Amino acid sequence: MSNAKQTKRLTPGSRETLLTILETLPDAFFVVDDAGTIVYANASAQAMSGATPEDVCGKSLWCGASHLVSTALYQVIQKAKQTQEPTEVEYASPVTRHWLHVQLAPTVGGLMLQFHEMRAPAPRQETFPRGERLCIGDLDGLPTWIGILTPEGIVLDINAVPLDDAQVRREEVIGKPLAEAPWWSFAPASQEWLRAAIARASTGETVHFEVLLRPRGGIVLSFEGTITPHMDADHHVEYLVIAGIDITARKQADEAIHTLIDAIPQLVWIARPDGSITYNNQRLIDYLAMTLEQVEGAGWLAGVHSDDRHRVWEAWQTAIQTGVPYEVEQRLQDGTSGAYRWFLVRGVPQRNAQGTILHWVGTCTDIDEQKRVEQQLNESRENWRVLAETVPQLVWTSLPDGFVTYFNQRSFEYTHAAFEQLQGYGWYQFVHPEDAERLVALRRHAFATGETYEVANRVRNGQTGAYRWFLTRAMPVRDGIGQIVKWVGTCTDIEDQKQAEQKLKESRENFRVLAETLPHLVWTMQPDGRLDYVNQRACDYIGASPEYMLGDEWWQFVHPDDYERIQALRRHSRETGEPYEIEYRLKDGQTGAYRWFLGRTLPVRDDTGQIIKWLGTSTDIEGQKRIEESLRQSQERVSVLMNSTMIGINIIEKEQIVDANDTFLRMTGYTCEDLRAGRMNWMRMTPPEYLARTRQVHQELATQQSVTYEKEYICKDGSRLPVVVCGVVLKHHPRQAIAFVLDNSARKELDQRKDAFISMASHELRNPLTALKLQTSLLHRQLARQGIPASAPALSSMETQINTVTRLVEEWLDVSKFQAGRLEYVRERVNLDELLREIVDTMQQTHPSHRILLRGAVQTSLMADRDRLGQVFTNLLSNAIKYSPGAETVEMDLSTSEETVTVRVCDHGLGIPREQRDKIFERFYRASGPRQKAIPGLGMGLYIVAEIVKRHRGTITVDSTVGKGSTFTVTLPKKRDA
Ligand code: ADP
Repeated sequence: MSNAKQTKRLTPGSRETLLTILETLPDAFFVVDDAGTIVYANASAQAMSGATPEDVCGKSLWCGASHLVSTALYQVIQKAKQTQEPTEVEYASPVTRHWLHVQLAPTVGGLMLQFHEMRAPAPRQETFPRGERLCIGDLDGLPTWIGILTPEGIVLDINAVPLDDAQVRREEVIGKPLAEAPWWSFAPASQEWLRAAIARASTGETVHFEVLLRPRGGIVLSFEGTITPHMDADHHVEYLVIAGIDITARKQADEAIHTLIDAIPQLVWIARPDGSITYNNQRLIDYLAMTLEQVEGAGWLAGVHSDDRHRVWEAWQTAIQTGVPYEVEQRLQDGTSGAYRWFLVRGVPQRNAQGTILHWVGTCTDIDEQKRVEQQLNESRENWRVLAETVPQLVWTSLPDGFVTYFNQRSFEYTHAAFEQLQGYGWYQFVHPEDAERLVALRRHAFATGETYEVANRVRNGQTGAYRWFLTRAMPVRDGIGQIVKWVGTCTDIEDQKQAEQKLKESRENFRVLAETLPHLVWTMQPDGRLDYVNQRACDYIGASPEYMLGDEWWQFVHPDDYERIQALRRHSRETGEPYEIEYRLKDGQTGAYRWFLGRTLPVRDDTGQIIKWLGTSTDIEGQKRIEESLRQSQERVSVLMNSTMIGINIIEKEQIVDANDTFLRMTGYTCEDLRAGRMNWMRMTPPEYLARTRQVHQELATQQSVTYEKEYICKDGSRLPVVVCGVVLKHHPRQAIAFVLDNSARKELDQRKDAFISMASHELRNPLTALKLQTSLLHRQLARQGIPASAPALSSMETQINTVTRLVEEWLDVSKFQAGRLEYVRERVNLDELLREIVDTMQQTHPSHRILLRGAVQTSLMADRDRLGQVFTNLLSNAIKYSPGAETVEMDLSTSEETVTVRVCDHGLGIPREQRDKIFERFYRASGPRQKAIPGLGMGLYIVAEIVKRHRGTITVDSTVGKGSTFTVTLPKKRDA
């Protein structure tokens, strides 16, 4: 046989030749186009197909040559078309049962087929594997219908069963569309249905069906079958296999059952072994509002709640595969209302004698109500669980006899124990030993009587080992008939509360102790004004019992002048809730005297701000009041003093006057503004000649509380103001000093006038005295010459008095000169030992009452004014004798050092009080004691002495003990500067 390429080279001329050849061929020869339509058949073909070429041409190969049709032929044609390669096949014609050898060659736009009838198959390599070869004839013994169809529905092969049913021969059917075969041709609708099913199968889908067939007149069968597509290696649908069985008998039985089933109030369904639904009873149809067609196969899944669908499908598939009864809860939609209800869907497989599953029968039981109840129960259980786990308590439930069967998580966490350790009565180990007995007794009673119980007990924290207080409460849960089914208990942690209570107790106790220890009168009062506590001190002060104090009578102890004031304040406070403070007088119950108290009352509020109490204290301020009074008085005095118009007062700090009264400002001409501006500096206000003394006073104030001295101030206008200043340092403010300043100008002026008078008087007296002295001396001499001795004593006495007055006048003159700075000194070498000896001799003669002792010698001469030095020691000796009237001796001691000579004049007389020691060197100062006053003098001697010593750059000091005597020490420098 030539191949396709050779065929293509045929010319039109050669076509005729070819046709002749073909016509003569003993084998049947067909040319078919790509659509499978016969375009040429030779004469042998006619013989083999049993039809004329005219009948054959234009028909499909399957219809035109139905004797030759077989599945094997169909398959090999398909293959040749696909591969465009020549091929061949051997098979037995399903009609004639003759063996045919077919050679196929692709040609332009079609295929050439050459059929060669043979006696027996060649024992050679099969074109198709055996398994692929279909030989339906082998299946003729089966009660099953089997047919092979092209994807278009042309019958390629069919077994005997359907042929017998329809009483037709195979060749009548082969090569024709199945829809036109007797089984289907009775009704166009059936045919239509079949064509549609074939069309679906030819797309690769396996189509299950159950239809009514009429194989021949009057016979109607129920037929259940499948159309299964058969795929080639390239996954193209090669041919279709239709297989099925006559289920008429079963159907009839089913019908009867269905009628029965429809009558029962259950939703019932029936499915094939493969799981596709074949029957729903009326009730189920009504519920789902789905037709059988809609639920068929897996269509029913549409009625299952989408949330359940997957689960249901899985379970159903498992059941189908394992054959284990199926049971699942699912929601099915009420097709009418659209609502879902819960169903318990059960399915059991029905098997035949061999155990093969025939079908599944199932029911759907409405369990919606049950589900809802269950749901509610679950919810309520869940609520309880959540509640039990969320509440901040330990929660437990027990059997009616108290055996604990549940603890919440918190219980485990607190006790740090597992359920096994706590369950039953295990939890007792966590109860405080001291509380256990009480708890056991209480529980026993509760379980016996069914009475709720509540008890505070300590429970150990399993982790820390510390006990905390819990309030345990338990109550029974009863069933419908009142029987206790269990106990529910909670343990609430009340440790903080307990501690707070304890603290409150302690704080109350603390308050009481405090109130009793305080040095005040303490009381508390109810908001209605009733006293509910008074401390012992208050009772003691009033001298009454606490009961008396809690009444109203103690009010009579309040001073009548203060009573109304207190009552008004109390009323106001209680209305406004404001605290109050008042000073009032309260009578001491024992002495009857009123003392001042400071009463303080304040409200005590609770967390909401409500006043729960008033707390009052009364503090004895009598002492304070007195101090205040004396302070007030003292301040008044200070103020009076400060306002004194006579005494100027200033306060200094370092060099600055930081404060001053008006008098001082007036004295010095400064203003308040000057003071504030810091323009008052005592250094600048002190003339240079007073600076040294002023500084000295400041130093002295470090050791003495006050020093009084005279000085001058330079006033603002530059004038000088003589003052007497008393400097004082306050103990608590050592950096500050207060100066009391007295204007001394009047006294100064008086002194000046006095000095002027003395100066004038002494000058005026001096000349007459000199004349008098001269005249007396002359008279003395004349009377002696005249020999009148009787007058001599009188004249001597006169001369003595005149000398006294003369010395007095000379002293006055000296004083005047000192004052005026006019005293002149002579500088001469003076032998001090000699001078003192002369003086002592002279003094001894004129003062025989005392023995004058001269001890020691200086053995040196000084440059000095001899007369003035003599005046110094004469004066000191004269005073020593004068102020030691009862003494026997007066001593004069001489001593020397390298630089100085020292002369001490010592007596055993009256002595000089300490405070007068400095003053005795002042002009006209005389000690004020009565014994001193009895001794005549003018207070000039020591002034002159001090001035002369000063001029000789020496010093004079006095040391004295009153009643024992005094020592005056004069120290003179050996070398005297010019
Ligand atoms: P008078 O003329 O009063 O003695 P003075 O200047 O000599 O004046 O002395 C001043 C005062 O000092 C005396 O009034 C006397 O009180 C006191 N006085 C002086 N010397 C002594 C002394 N030796 N003993 C006691 N008092 C003395």
